[in-house]
Formats: sequence, structure tokens, C-alpha cells
Amino acid sequence: MAYSYDTQNIFARILRGEIPCAKVLETAHSLAFNDIQPQAPHHVLVIPRGAYVNADHFALEASDAEIADFARCIGQVCQSLGIRPGEGGAGYRLITNAGEDGVQEVPHYHVHILGGRMLGRMLQKG
Ligand code: AMP
Repeated sequence: MAYSYDTQNIFARILRGEIPCAKVLETAHSLAFNDIQPQAPHHVLVIPRGAYVNADHFALEASDAEIADFARCIGQVCQSLGIRPGEGGAGYRLITNAGEDGVQEVPHYHVHILGGRMLGRMLQKG
């Protein structure tokens, strides 16, 4: 099944500059910005510039250059936030939601980087 991409989704509009965002990092193929409703002291969203709906769409159809850029962008944001455990930071969590069961609200692939507090165990029931 091919994914259809909603070009009017909020992150597509951010990428086109139609609405503002609090930019954290821009790279050739990716953009990182602060989540508008932060769930932790650090809550950054990393998105590819390309029109991908979710993680599996991106992983299966993005170019190697896009995938490498996206992974490096996540690493650079973690570094700039000072949350890398390997560099004395206290750690972080990456989350990506997909589809109905994943409770994905915005249909443009994004990874949440959460940090700055103890995040608790991975999943809650319900
Ligand atoms: P998800 O449920 O994984 O699709 O999460 C979507 C995230 O996008 C939520 O954490 C929202 O707070 C965030 N969000 C929605 N609109 C904006 C916006 N204009 N700027 C930054 N973050 C946003």
C-alpha cells in the first residue's frame, strides 16, 4: 500500500514557512524545532524535509542521504541539549508514533526527543 501524504498537515506548513516554529537545528534534509506543548524540559521534534508519513514510510522510501542526515540531526540535537549519557548528560527518550494504535496526531514523520527529567518507564497501560 502506498501512503498518501497530506500536504496541508501542520509540519508541512512549517517546512514551507507558512507558520512559525522555534527552530533548534536545520540540516540539508531535516529540521528540528521545539514541541509547542512540551512534555519535558527538553522536547524537540525532528522531521525530515521530505513528504513521509511515518517511520516505516521514511525507512523504506527515503534516500540513504535523507536517512543519514536525519539520524545525525537527532544526534546533534542530543549533543546540543547536553543530554547525551556518554557525555555526562542524564539521558533522553526518542518516541515516534505511527497510525491509530500509535496515536499519531500529525501525519508527517517526526521523532520526539524528550529529556531534562526522569521520564519513567516506557509505556503506561491503556
Ligand atoms: P504525535 O502525536 O506524535 O503526532 O505528536 C505531534 C506533536 O506535534 C505533539 O507533541 C504536538 O504538541 C506537536 N505540535 C503540534 N503542532 C505544533 C506546532 N505548530 N509546533 C510545534 N509542535 C507542534
